[in-house]
Amino acid sequence: MASELEPEVQAIDRSLLECSAEEIAGKWLQATDLTREVYQHLAHYVPQIYCRGPNPFPQKEDMLAQHVLLGPMEWYLCGEDPTFGFPKLEQANKPSHLCGRVFKVGEPTYSCRDCAVDPTCVLCMECFLGSIHRDHRYRMTTSGGGGFCDCGDIEAWKEGPYCQKHDLNTSENEEEEDPLVHLSEDVIARTYNIFAIMFRYAVEILTWEKENELPAELELEEQSDTYYCMLFNDEVHTYEQVIYTLQKAVNCTQKEAIGFATTVDRDGRRSVRYGDFQYCEQAKSVIVRNTSRQTKPLKVQVMHSSIVAHQNFGLKLLSWLGNVIGYSDGLRRILCQVGLQEGPDGESSSLVDRLMLSDSKLWKGARSMYHQLFMSSLLMDLKYKKLFAIRFAKNYQQLQKDFMEDDHERAVSVTALSVQFFTAPTLARMLITEENLMTTIIKTFMDHLRHRDSQGRFQFERYTALQAFKFRRVQSLILDLKYVLISKPTEWSDELREKFLEGFDAFLELLKCMQGMDPITRQVGQHIEMEPEWEAAFTLQMKLTHVISMMQDWCALDEKVLIEAYKKCLAVLMQCHGGFTDGEQPITLNICGHSVETIRYCVSQEKVSIHLPVSRLLAGLHVLLSKSEVAYKFPELLPLSELSPPMLIEHPLRCLVLCAQVHAGMWRRNGFSLVNQIYYYHNVKCRREMFDKDIIMLQTGVSMMDPNHFLMIMLSRFELYQIFSTPDYGKRFSSEITHKDVVQQNNTLIEEMLYLIIMLVGERFSPGVGQVDATDEIKREIIHQLSIKPMAHSELVKSLPEDENKETGMEGVIEAVAHFKKPGLTGRGMYELKPECAKEFNLYFYHFSRAEQSKAEEAQRKLKRQNREDTALPPPVLPPFCPLFASLVNILQSDVLLCIMRTILQWAVEHNGYAWSESMLQRVLHLIGMALQEEKQHLENAMEEHVVTFTFTQKISKPGEAPNNSPSILAMLETLQNAPYLEVHKDMIRWILKTFNAIKKIRESSSTSPVAETEGTIMEESSRDKDKAERKRKAEIARLRREKIMAQMSEMQRHFIDENKELFQQTLELDASSSAVLDNSPVVSDKTLIALGPAKTQISEQRQFVTCILCQEEQEVKVEDSAMVLAAFVQRSTVLSKNRNKFIQDPEKYDPLFMHPDLSCGTHTGSCGHVMHAHCWQRYFDSVQAKEQRRQQRLRLHTSYDVENGEFLCPLCECLSNTVIPLLLPPRNIFNRLNFSDQPNLSQWIRTVSQQIKALQALRKAGSASDTASSKNVEKVNELQLPEGFRPDFQPKNPYSESIKEMLTTFGTATYKVGLKVHPNEEDPRVPIMCWGSCAYTIQSIERILSDEDKPLFGPLPCRLDDCLRSLTRFAAAHWTVVSLSVVQGHFGRLFASLVPNDSHEDLPCILDIDMFHLLVSLVLAFPTLQCQDFSGISLGTGDLHIFHLVTMAHIVQILLTSCTEENGMDQENPTGEEELAVLALYKTIHQYTGSALRGTPSGWHLWRTVKAGVMPFLKCSALFFHYLNGVPPPPDFQASGTNNFEHLCNYLSLPNNLICLFQENSEIMNSLIESWCRNNEVRRYLEGERDAISYPRESNKLIDLPEDYSSLINQASNFSCPKSGGDKSRAPTLCLVCGALLCSQSYCCQTELEGEDVGACTAHTYSCGSGAGIFLRVRECQVLFLAGKTKGCFYSPPYLDDYGETDQGLRRGNPLRLCRERFRKIQKLWHQHSVTEEIGHAQEANQTLVGIDWQHL
Ligand SMILES: [Zn+2]
Ligand SMILES: [Zn+2]
Ligand SMILES: [Zn+2]
Ligand SMILES: [Zn+2]
Ligand SMILES: [Zn+2]
Ligand SMILES: [Zn+2]
Ligand SMILES: [Zn+2]
Repeated sequence: MASELEPEVQAIDRSLLECSAEEIAGKWLQATDLTREVYQHLAHYVPQIYCRGPNPFPQKEDMLAQHVLLGPMEWYLCGEDPTFGFPKLEQANKPSHLCGRVFKVGEPTYSCRDCAVDPTCVLCMECFLGSIHRDHRYRMTTSGGGGFCDCGDIEAWKEGPYCQKHDLNTSENEEEEDPLVHLSEDVIARTYNIFAIMFRYAVEILTWEKENELPAELELEEQSDTYYCMLFNDEVHTYEQVIYTLQKAVNCTQKEAIGFATTVDRDGRRSVRYGDFQYCEQAKSVIVRNTSRQTKPLKVQVMHSSIVAHQNFGLKLLSWLGNVIGYSDGLRRILCQVGLQEGPDGESSSLVDRLMLSDSKLWKGARSMYHQLFMSSLLMDLKYKKLFAIRFAKNYQQLQKDFMEDDHERAVSVTALSVQFFTAPTLARMLITEENLMTTIIKTFMDHLRHRDSQGRFQFERYTALQAFKFRRVQSLILDLKYVLISKPTEWSDELREKFLEGFDAFLELLKCMQGMDPITRQVGQHIEMEPEWEAAFTLQMKLTHVISMMQDWCALDEKVLIEAYKKCLAVLMQCHGGFTDGEQPITLNICGHSVETIRYCVSQEKVSIHLPVSRLLAGLHVLLSKSEVAYKFPELLPLSELSPPMLIEHPLRCLVLCAQVHAGMWRRNGFSLVNQIYYYHNVKCRREMFDKDIIMLQTGVSMMDPNHFLMIMLSRFELYQIFSTPDYGKRFSSEITHKDVVQQNNTLIEEMLYLIIMLVGERFSPGVGQVDATDEIKREIIHQLSIKPMAHSELVKSLPEDENKETGMEGVIEAVAHFKKPGLTGRGMYELKPECAKEFNLYFYHFSRAEQSKAEEAQRKLKRQNREDTALPPPVLPPFCPLFASLVNILQSDVLLCIMRTILQWAVEHNGYAWSESMLQRVLHLIGMALQEEKQHLENAMEEHVVTFTFTQKISKPGEAPNNSPSILAMLETLQNAPYLEVHKDMIRWILKTFNAIKKIRESSSTSPVAETEGTIMEESSRDKDKAERKRKAEIARLRREKIMAQMSEMQRHFIDENKELFQQTLELDASSSAVLDNSPVVSDKTLIALGPAKTQISEQRQFVTCILCQEEQEVKVEDSAMVLAAFVQRSTVLSKNRNKFIQDPEKYDPLFMHPDLSCGTHTGSCGHVMHAHCWQRYFDSVQAKEQRRQQRLRLHTSYDVENGEFLCPLCECLSNTVIPLLLPPRNIFNRLNFSDQPNLSQWIRTVSQQIKALQALRKAGSASDTASSKNVEKVNELQLPEGFRPDFQPKNPYSESIKEMLTTFGTATYKVGLKVHPNEEDPRVPIMCWGSCAYTIQSIERILSDEDKPLFGPLPCRLDDCLRSLTRFAAAHWTVVSLSVVQGHFGRLFASLVPNDSHEDLPCILDIDMFHLLVSLVLAFPTLQCQDFSGISLGTGDLHIFHLVTMAHIVQILLTSCTEENGMDQENPTGEEELAVLALYKTIHQYTGSALRGTPSGWHLWRTVKAGVMPFLKCSALFFHYLNGVPPPPDFQASGTNNFEHLCNYLSLPNNLICLFQENSEIMNSLIESWCRNNEVRRYLEGERDAISYPRESNKLIDLPEDYSSLINQASNFSCPKSGGDKSRAPTLCLVCGALLCSQSYCCQTELEGEDVGACTAHTYSCGSGAGIFLRVRECQVLFLAGKTKGCFYSPPYLDDYGETDQGLRRGNPLRLCRERFRKIQKLWHQHSVTEEIGHAQEANQTLVGIDWQHL
């Protein structure tokens, strides 16, 4: 279809390009009716440029539009060529100080916690870095898109509003200067004309709603009728649904459907079909039909293509306008004028109004386009920002209504702009006074919550889905209200007062609808059937919490407002509960001669609600009055007389009783909804405006009442009145054994009631209640949190309430109360309570949960014991109450309380059964303690002649009155002190008695004592004190002894565990100890230790015993016995890779024989070192497999390991494994024969081996040529002059037991399968190659780790590594015994030919392209297949030595060829050393063979250094290899890290110290070999610079460098756009820490197909970059991601810490983050050690939820 259109389109394009912008503009300048002229132009050209086919061509469209449509406008505007005109405008411009940068999604934003007026004030990165705030306490977040930089807005910052860049010319500031003065009249007029026309055009066309008809002015006579089927996005349908439907409806591929869906999601609409009306209509009906089943259908329109064309140009115009106004603030102002000019239809008809009001009808792309234009125009111009704000406020109700109906997120709604006006203090204030904004917002909110119960309260029960949806949306209004209130007025005008109070009225109306909502009734008998809805009400409460607090803050600023608000609030409360006594008969209560009237009400029987916002607001205002002293200065202004204390306390008291009853288990049948409500009532998110205020309300009420009356009412509400008003209740009570539950219940209620009394008297840390300030309050919170345990910064923040600025105020006081302890390599920084603060600890702190209370109690007692103090936790000394609350202390000495305390003590003394509890007693003791502290304070602070009215000590010394005549409280305490069942409380009682005496002394010294009669007791006291001290001392000694014994026991226990561990690791220990014995044996002297060759040190065979971890049986490792195996994990690896772009393309055909020196894909083997019998393992694995199959059928759950791929967890340590390695004795010893002849030298040996290979090749050729003519073959072979003693027909006997052979095959096949990613095939000739390769690669990777960490080669390796290398090497050496001899011989032949050329092997890599260590290992391990048929007497050792020497020499040549031999300008001294001369000579030889290609002649010193450095890793690897192969212990020098290892290495490896001697000794053959190596074509190409080669030593790979400051990473990622969806920002940018690639993760756009499955960008990347394993940093989340394969992954803590030593996964806290190098190194180490997969396994085992994540989609 496209090709048909092609010529026609090209013709149009040509004609379009012939238009001249200058001419058109000229025509326009002459025009009388400019509007008509321009519209005609547009009508004609727009459809020719846009929408000419099924798919848009943005670049071409843009180019043509610029040329034909926008160009003329620019000419017209400038009156000259815009390439000159615009720069002129720009020069004349005086830019404003506002930055105004609009944030992209994911861009970092900064807010200063010290200077920002509110948290919505943010800076862009550039401004932030140039501002003073970078040295302040700042917070960093990532933008969700939208919003702009507030740099330059003087209202947004308390200090430093400008950054360096925007501070340019503040000195000459005429803030209100009109920007138009910089423009000429002409330009102004023309700009006005063209802006007016274009802006109107854009608005008209974008808001056009007809699908088939253009506005009349744009209608063309002749037009072709083509249509689009346009699909719009919504928030209802999922991606999958849309993709599925599209495939069906428009018959496209899945890829195309994904493309459509992605664009629809991003832009809000996309045409999915183009053609005639019928054709499009058909697609539409399919889509509608397919999506209408459950929900409303997807929105689809069939639109005429010319309409779409104009709309596309409309969008283009908006962005053009945005660009043009960027040239000059004057142009910007003109645009603002045009936009806000009232249209012909009067009010709300300006272009700006029209756009706003059709916001919800526009598609996403159009919305965000005009929102951005608004931001860069109206919001940047302070004058017009104000006018715009007024328009916004006037339309507010309508906009919100539209938003409720709209189904887009708020971020793309125009209502989201509210933050831009409402948070600007002057604007907000102006809108409140002039537009009555507060009232408008609240009323709008109420309008949308119409569902009420019969009392007019909100009702959320039985909400429909639609109502629930609305409820979620309407919450954004609360946010708006919060914005308006966030900056508090500094001055009040009368209007502001009036409007604020009007708003306050509206707010009270709102709270009134909440007062008493969601009432509940106690369920008796049956459990409730359905959990009632409770979340909505709490959501509302939670969202309003800050607003309620801010309302109070505002009130606090002005006395008049405060008094008015107080009156209003009280009036509303009376409306709510005025008639609370109605209908009920009042009852009269009597205790201790006091009596009070109250109503009959039982929480357990009647309705009760937890929502009391009006009462709580009144409580808040009351405290403010108390604080502001207005209450004392002008009491006549207050309606205090109207206050009825019983009414004030009634509802909060019910609420608290409800909590108590829930704790007592009385509401169990009401289900979880109630439990949740109680939880949130106390939770840090809600408590400030719920629980805390209820306590304050009770304090308020009680402070105005007779405490005795209050206590009686309280007893009655707690339903405990009977118990304490009936004298003998306790006795009767204990006999009622049948009602155990009731007794228990009552006990809990009594405890709760006592706790409440403690709180009422003790909680005086709210400013206004007690004489404290805000710092004291926060300090106290922190002290109590830290009394539980040391805490990290974030934990503390979470436990403290945040204000509307998200501040807890913690930083200011934390230093005063706590010490900071820095974090280690793991864990977090912690705050610890300073010891001197412990005395402020209050066991009954009201914000403790039950669990916290008991933890804190335990911790504090422990601390005291450690300090050798007594363990009493007496109440702390409290600050005095404010005068309004002062009378509260009298509760403590009220008759009713004394009666309650006496009763309880009596029960404790009598100690009868259930009637009392220890906690009850503990609380009574605490109350007594509080009273004593209080009295002591009073006495100490009293003026000289002042009479202290607080006489608690006197009251407790008096015995009880008739009729029961109980002893005095004091006497009872003395009795209890000796009660054996109260051991725990003795210290507290003792403290009480001591304090009592102290008070007595003060009283006596200050005045004539009124209490003479108790003197006797005091005397008695002191003597009693003495023997008590003695007892105490004894008890202390006993305690110490006990502690010592406990410590010993725990020590023993630990020992036992350690021993058990050793039991498990026996094998390792055995090994280590045996080798240690060997090391120490004086028989082998250090110098003679040689690892290989004929001179190899002979080691007497060690017998090795190991224990199976499964059956615990011990067995010796023997050749003929059944196999013992190690659990092992084989994986592919790119850790050492020097070329990450290379990976195995076709594994079936891949030839792994030669490893390229870039080590691009290796196979690594690791092991946890745990040994099993082969058959035990077999059985274990079978059972795992069976279990897994059953489980998958049942649960369809994943596990952390993939059984189908042979994976299992080590039965002992749960380490991930996928095969086993057999344990073997040094395999060489088995095949060693006596060397009965002289050993050949290198040349001879090479010749012999070459002959042998030739013979074998001939044999094989003959064998394969034809099987029939066998006799001929035999002849041919005979012709072949077999080398002496070579018997190719000899088949050696396999010495291993069947079981070992089986395991050799098992591990070999596993290595082959994993390494090549192919199906297992034990016959494949590549199996042995993969085994050798894995051995070589694993050794190389360990050598790298040791070198990088600067560790000695043979230092103490971890046992598991040592075991793994030993088994792996020996296995690889024995593997040939289970493979066809001729296959391995064939491999040997090819390997050998790569160094010693041979006619029959061509196409072999040149020596630049061979990793020499891999070659060495393969040659050495394949050699026995040749040697076993050789009876001439050449020993294996001789072969090893010659192979080693040959490969080493090849490596040296390789190094010399590839070393960068450029001279560095150093003086060329004459070489002196032997080595230097030798290496120079060698270099010259090479030079000779390569022709002149090799550059110049470097100094011998330099060459020798290069060779030594280059060959070192190879020699180290070789030493490890031969050590494990032959079992010769390393010389002790290796075990310490020293500098001069080179000589030791050479000795151990049987090399001359001057390596070049090797060449000289064998110069005859070496010269020809060197020549053959150098004459290679590839070598020549390299020397001529046509190709690259790896040079030596290879550097270790490292993870990428990360920046110090995390925000620069965020910035980098925010500039990253998805590579597939055309400039769209990636939602989850993820950084590969291995190669530094940024990926668009977790998103449809970047999914690719991998092995037939769709996978995310990260998983796909791991396949090329990490051969299946990957380490990533998810930048937005600040989280490290480990991936392995498609199904495995875990998150790991990131290497970035904040100042408090904590990571911030998810970037929720936003503290500045800095790189922690130690932690990053730890991650790198995991990578180097190939432990990523293992780490994932452990993480998944520990946290099962990780298993369920779809890792492959990341
Ligand atoms: Zn900025
Ligand atoms: Zn700035
Ligand atoms: Zn600051
Ligand atoms: Zn076993
Ligand atoms: Zn293990
Ligand atoms: Zn993408
Ligand atoms: Zn990578």
